[in-house]
Amino acid sequence: MVNGNLFILSSPSGAGKSSLISALLKQGSARPLQMSVSTTTRAPRPGEEDGVHYHFVDKASFEQQIKDGVFYEHAEVFGNYYGTSANAIDERLAQGVDVFLDIDWQGAQQVRMKRPDVTSIFIAPPSRQELENRLRGRGQDSDEVIADRMAKAQAECSHYQEFDYIIVNDDFDTALADLTTIVDNQRLKRSQQEQAHQDLFTDLLAND
Ligand code: 5GP
Repeated sequence: MVNGNLFILSSPSGAGKSSLISALLKQGSARPLQMSVSTTTRAPRPGEEDGVHYHFVDKASFEQQIKDGVFYEHAEVFGNYYGTSANAIDERLAQGVDVFLDIDWQGAQQVRMKRPDVTSIFIAPPSRQELENRLRGRGQDSDEVIADRMAKAQAECSHYQEFDYIIVNDDFDTALADLTTIVDNQRLKRSQQEQAHQDLFTDLLAND
């Protein structure tokens, strides 16, 4: 059994991360691939389901889970807590499932300390102006709200150098192809192929 790969996907909000993830999951792949479901104290948005998009909990319960050592990483993002539960990830990786974490730069830093083998990907918008257009396109947010989101986006972007890969999401199909390439690349590494094809290498190295 080949262990699954762990991937981190981070981006400023508005860079198209969620759409890319959905498309990646929808297109299917040779090996199983799943998104990790984080725990958060933020309220569910319309259409979000508990256990599917997030595990929604209150602050006291989140803090208890921190004390219990439940999380791989956790961070406060925009005034709410978010965390990745360790057990669920480890189980899936052991089952050979590739796991994607949609987390912010703070979480990415913590996961890298625990799992140096993690592959981290930063998704950037094609320009500052386009990011602003996309954020404005979402609804009727005030200029103040947009300015706040742009400031947060800049804070997230300031950590781009910590990531292994960068995808510039200008053309969606190209960005999806880039993401697929990164996943495939990871799966073709010798360490993975060696595990997947043990019999082959035993056979190839046999002395008759
Ligand atoms: P949203 O509330 O829009 O779903 O997510 C807000 C931000 O929190 C996004 O940047 C997302 O990547 C980040 N986030 C979601 N889940 C986690 C998590 O488990 N840990 C960390 N560190 N960040 C998370």
